[in-house]
Amino acid sequence: MESHGKTETVIRGVAASRGIAHGQAFLYLQSELEIPRYTVEPARRAAEIERFDQALVTTRQQIAKIQLEVSTNLSEAEALIFDAHQMVLEDQALISETIREFENSGLNIETCFNAIAQRYISAFAEIDDEYLRERAADIKDVTRRLLHVLLGQTARQLTELVEKRIIVAHEISPSESAGIDRSAALGIVTDSGSRTSHAVIVARSMKIPSVVGARSLTAVVEDGDWLIVDGYEGLVILHPTEETLARYRIIQTEKSSFESRLMAAIELPPETADGVHVTLRANIEKADEVGLVQQYHADGVGLYRTEFLFLNATTLPTEEEQYADYRAIAEGLAPATVTIRTLDIGGDKPLPSNPELIGPEANPFLGFRAIRLCLEHPEMFKDQLRAILRASAHGKVEVMYPMISGPLELEAVNRLLGEAKADLRARQLAFDEKIRVGTMIEIPSAALAADLLAPHCQFFSIGTNDLIQYLLAIDRGNDRIAHLYDPAHPAVLRVLKQVIDAAHRQRLKVSVCGEMAGDALFAPLLIGLGVDELSMSPPLLPAVKFVIRAMKFSDAEKLATDALAQTDSRKTQEMILAFHHRHMAEG
Ligand code: PEP
Ligand code: MG
Repeated sequence: MESHGKTETVIRGVAASRGIAHGQAFLYLQSELEIPRYTVEPARRAAEIERFDQALVTTRQQIAKIQLEVSTNLSEAEALIFDAHQMVLEDQALISETIREFENSGLNIETCFNAIAQRYISAFAEIDDEYLRERAADIKDVTRRLLHVLLGQTARQLTELVEKRIIVAHEISPSESAGIDRSAALGIVTDSGSRTSHAVIVARSMKIPSVVGARSLTAVVEDGDWLIVDGYEGLVILHPTEETLARYRIIQTEKSSFESRLMAAIELPPETADGVHVTLRANIEKADEVGLVQQYHADGVGLYRTEFLFLNATTLPTEEEQYADYRAIAEGLAPATVTIRTLDIGGDKPLPSNPELIGPEANPFLGFRAIRLCLEHPEMFKDQLRAILRASAHGKVEVMYPMISGPLELEAVNRLLGEAKADLRARQLAFDEKIRVGTMIEIPSAALAADLLAPHCQFFSIGTNDLIQYLLAIDRGNDRIAHLYDPAHPAVLRVLKQVIDAAHRQRLKVSVCGEMAGDALFAPLLIGLGVDELSMSPPLLPAVKFVIRAMKFSDAEKLATDALAQTDSRKTQEMILAFHHRHMAEG
């Protein structure tokens, strides 16, 4: 069928964040550019230089336009970045060297410019001066923009998104996603990624409908194209027809009346029909999400991912800055508990302010990440521990460690916590002496050694996103294998059961804070396996609470027993789905 003269196309991806969006595409092409390389005939050389000059002018105009458009949204410091970009474009050395390279080699201007720019970028990146090192990033940005202009493609920043549009990108990094203006992003669609990639987690907490793993979408979508993002079914409908739009209007009405039905129970206790209480808490990434935690009646925060405080900063946040941030959350939610997770940088979350801290790695998810990095940088880590401890004087705070692999590591971290406490005592600063310490169980070795970890902490929180990734050897961000990421896999269920039983034997409570916890399909199974708490992105809470209130704990236990006996995970999925439908209809 035709719409605006273009054919409607349905592209299937992975449903990442619920909701339906209809709007025009904001094409965000961040991926590596393919730069063609060819020889320019002598007769065309003057025209090639003219093309370069013209591209410089266009790029300067582009930057000036963005600067103007976004100036009201930007801080002084951010606006200055654009000045720095203009300076790069006016750098006579860069321009004359490009032209000299062109005259010597006769190769097309993109190839020459890129060669010179890359030389500058590496030279600046190696300089031992922070200001000059940042210039490398400016040159990189401008180079990309200029090459896009030369190649006739669009290059932009996500911060340029000022009018309501749907972001269409190859991929979005966690730091980019944290910078998205939620009032301007109608929806997000990416070629790559899976349900548990960090950018998706951020989209979900911002309630932005999102579909990921849509493969070649960026190759077929043009900037300004109309599309629908169906974050329930994982569909992207390009050039929707009038009929499709009408159908989606009906779906949207149905969905919003369903959401209202779920929201109607939001203030009621999270208790099963046979009276078992399940604590429901919130996962947050930024301090300003405290309002969301309250709006969805979460019992405090079960996971505060502190790394976003680091991802958005141009320098490492100090103890004082962190303290102010953690304290605001603790005070805002007191007397409810806030579980602050220590820095989990690395993996798919590089640190833009200090890229050299981690450096390039062949296997980032198996690399220098989270607690491994913190143990090698004890002073940086203790800044964070002291900040968390000081916040504990202003509310109910717990500290939780990510990526613990075994008891020795946990003991080492606890020693540093002891040192941080001693520092504060010496400085006569208040903190909760009895602060509770938790360990994330997200590495298979920690799961298998859970009984050995239990004596060194007060609670466990199972990070199913990573645990499943490591257990099944499935990169959680890789769309090609996303279908193999199977929370119903018998090995996953066995490991969960083992961790929960090991914890309970030593009277430790167990939470789940991975995305599985906020999935209303899987929540009954987790509860049936014995999980005490579920922590999730706040907008997911209503559906989970609804199903809990509709089901009996004894039925969830039976579901878990049947699931554990199942060898075929597709059958387990069917059982889970049937259980869900039964209770959603009844509730
Ligand atoms: C997890 O791994 O399940 C988790 C909650 O941590 P993150 O998603 O931040 O890695
Ligand atoms: Mg994790």
